[in-house]
Amino acid sequence: MEIIRAEHSGFCFGVDRAIEMAFSEAEKTDRKGRLYTCGHLIHNKAVVDRLESMGVKTIGSLDEAREGDTVIVRSHGEPREFYDEAEDRGISLIDTTCVFVAKIHRLVSEAHENGLPVVIIGDREHQEVKATNGWCGYGAFIVGTADEAEKAAGDLRGSEPLVVCQTTIKQELLQEILEVFDSCGIRYDIRNTICNATRDRQKSCADLASRVDAMIVIGDTHSSNSRKLFEIAQKNNKNSYFIENADNSLLNRLTKYNKIGCIAGASTPEWIIKEVIAGMSENVNKNMEQNPMMDFMDDIEKSLRLPKPGDIVDGKIDQVMGDAVIVNMGCKKDGILRSDEVAMEEGQTLADLFKVGDEIKAKVIKSDDGEGGIMLSTKRLVAVENYAELEEAMENKETITVTVTRAVNGGVIAAYKEITGFIPMSQLSDRYVENADEFIGQTFDVRVIRVDTKRNRAVFSRKAILVDEKRKAVAEIWENLNVGDIVEGKVMRFTDYGAFVDIGGVDGLLHISEISWGKLKHPEEVLRIGDIINVKILSLNEEKGKISLGLKQTQPEPWTLVGDKYQVGDVLEGKVVQIKEYGAFVELEAGLDGLVHISEIANKRVENVFDELKVGETVNVKIMEIDPDKRRISLSIKATLPAEEPAAEAEEPAEADAADAVVEAVEDAIRDSQEAADRIMETAEEKAIEAKAAVAEAIDEVKEAIQETAEDVKEAVTEAVEEAKAELSE
Ligand code: SF4
Repeated sequence: MEIIRAEHSGFCFGVDRAIEMAFSEAEKTDRKGRLYTCGHLIHNKAVVDRLESMGVKTIGSLDEAREGDTVIVRSHGEPREFYDEAEDRGISLIDTTCVFVAKIHRLVSEAHENGLPVVIIGDREHQEVKATNGWCGYGAFIVGTADEAEKAAGDLRGSEPLVVCQTTIKQELLQEILEVFDSCGIRYDIRNTICNATRDRQKSCADLASRVDAMIVIGDTHSSNSRKLFEIAQKNNKNSYFIENADNSLLNRLTKYNKIGCIAGASTPEWIIKEVIAGMSENVNKNMEQNPMMDFMDDIEKSLRLPKPGDIVDGKIDQVMGDAVIVNMGCKKDGILRSDEVAMEEGQTLADLFKVGDEIKAKVIKSDDGEGGIMLSTKRLVAVENYAELEEAMENKETITVTVTRAVNGGVIAAYKEITGFIPMSQLSDRYVENADEFIGQTFDVRVIRVDTKRNRAVFSRKAILVDEKRKAVAEIWENLNVGDIVEGKVMRFTDYGAFVDIGGVDGLLHISEISWGKLKHPEEVLRIGDIINVKILSLNEEKGKISLGLKQTQPEPWTLVGDKYQVGDVLEGKVVQIKEYGAFVELEAGLDGLVHISEIANKRVENVFDELKVGETVNVKIMEIDPDKRRISLSIKATLPAEEPAAEAEEPAEADAADAVVEAVEDAIRDSQEAADRIMETAEEKAIEAKAAVAEAIDEVKEAIQETAEDVKEAVTEAVEEAKAELSE
C-alpha cells in the first residue's frame, strides 16, 4: 500500500501567513480589548473553532467592534475605507492581507489616482474582488465572463485600462477575456496577478489523480477551492473522495486500494492533513515495516520540523514571482527567497535564474519573518562558501583580490565576492595613510588576517603584501651584493657617525671615517642629501641587515700617489688646516698634510705661529722632505719667499755662535717632541671619535629595535581600536 501526497497541497503561503499571525495574536495575554476576525479567517471549521476556543470571535462588520478592540483582516483583504473606519473608531487592525493581494490593491489604487479605468477579472461576489474594487473608488469594471467583457468593452473604448485578475481565477478565463478585448480593439495594460499557488495545486491534483487507484481531497465543505479540487479529482479518477477530517468512516473503505493519492485545499491546516493520513495509514496498513509507509511517516516527521536560522536547506521552487521565489522544503512552511537575497547580475531577474521545479540549496536567515514565512537566502549561502574560501586563504597565506567600496571609521570596507571585510587604516599601506578616501574604488590583493564566521567578519591587510613584496625585493638585492662591489647609491640621511645611502632598495651605512681620506667632523662637510655617489661595499651582514659602505675607497689613498705626484723641491699651493706652537699643517689634498715647521714659516724668527698664519688660509709651500715610512712631508713657506739681504752682522765671538746653536738645537728638540706628542694625541682623538661613533651607532640600533617593537604593539592596538570603531559605525 502506498499513499502519495500531492506536490502542492494544503495551506498556500498567504493563508499560512494569515493563520500564523492570527494565532500568535490570539496567544497574547496583554491585549486590553477583544480580538475578532472580520468574517471567517479561512474556510475551515476546525481552524475557526480553534480560534474561537482561544477567544477570537467572528464578526460580520466593524460595527460589532468597539474602541480598543482588535480586528484581524483576512488574507483576501478589505477595501480602503475599512482601514479608515477602524482608525476613526480607535479599532486596531492585524492585517493578514496576502502580499500578492496587497500588490493588486496598490496597482489599482495608483491607476485610480492617475485617472485610468480599472478592469478586475474575477467573481464580483468574491471577498477579494470586492476589497480590490474598494481600492479604486468602487469604479472598476468587474468581468467574470466573455459577455461581461464585451459589455465592458463598449465603455472602455478609447481608454487604456489597467487589467488585473482575482488571484484564484483560471488562466483560461484571463485568456478568454483578453481575446474579447482584443477583438473589440481595446488597448489595455495587463498585469497577470493570478496566484500560481492555486494553479499549481489544481495541476498537481489532476496529475496525481490520474495515476493512483483512489484520490482523496481533504478540505472544508465551505471551501470553494477544496470543492474545486474535488471536481478536478473526480474528472481524473472515478474513485475520488472528499473528507473533512480523520473522523470519517470512509477511511475504513480505502483498504482495498494499493495506491492512494491525497491532496488538501488551500485552507486545510497541516495538522488535519496529517491526522487524516495517519488515520488512513492505521486503517489501510498496520504493517509499519512496509517501506513506502515508513518513508511516508518519515516525510510527516520531516514536515513537522522547521528549519532554524543558519540551516542550509534543500528545496524545490514552487513559484517564481517578480520579487520573490516560493520554495517548498518539505516542511509545513514554505520558504521565501526574496530577490535581494539572490546574487544577481545587473538586469537579471528571478525568472532568468529560477524556474518552477528547480531544486535549490539555500540558507535560512529567519525561521519566521513575522508574516508566516521562512526567509531564505542563496546569496548568504554563497557568502558561507566565500567565508570558507577566506579561511582557507588565511590558513595557506594566500592572497585574495578585493575592491574597496567605502570608507568607515578607522579604515575601509572591501568587497570579496558576496561578502565584505574590513581593512584597518594601518593595514591599507606600508606608509602612513591620512585619508582612506583615496582607496575607494581601488581593486588590489590583500591577505586575510582574521575571519570570524559566527559574526560574519573578516579583516584584510594590504600592508602585509606590500611588506612581503619589499622583503622579496630586498632578498633579491642582497643576493646580488658582494663585498668589494662598487655600486651607485643615493644619500638618504645623516647621523653624527655617518650617512645612510640607498643602494637600490636597501640602505647601507657610510661611516664618517669611510667618507674621506681626510678628517671630517660631520658627513655634511662632503655630502648633501640626495647626492648620487659611487660607494664600495665594505662588509655585508644579511642576518642583521647591515651593509657597510666606503666612499673614500673609490678614490686612491693619497700616500700611494705621493711618490708619483710630489717631489722634494716642488712648490705647491696648500691650505692651512691646523696651527700648533711648533708650526702649521698645510693640506696639499684631502688626506695629505705636510708640516711647515715654525722655523720654515718666514724669513725672520717667528715667536708665535698664530701671529703669522690662520686656519683656512692658502699658502705657497715648498716640499723639503718626504718620509713615506713615517708618512710625513716637511714643507717650507720660507723657501718660497725671496731671499732677504743678510744684515751686516756685528762680529761676534765664536763662543756666542756656539751658544746660539745649542739653544736652537734644544728648541728644535722640544718642538719635535711636541709634534710627536700631538700626533699621539691626534691618533688618540681619532680613536675616541671612532669609539663615540660606534657607541652612537649601537644606541641607534637599540632605539630602532625598541621603536619597531613599540610600533608593532601600537599597530596591534590601533588595529583593534579601528576594527571596533568600524563595527560600531557599521
Ligand atoms: S492563493 Fe495566493 S494570493 Fe491567495 S492567499 Fe494564497 S498565496 Fe495569497
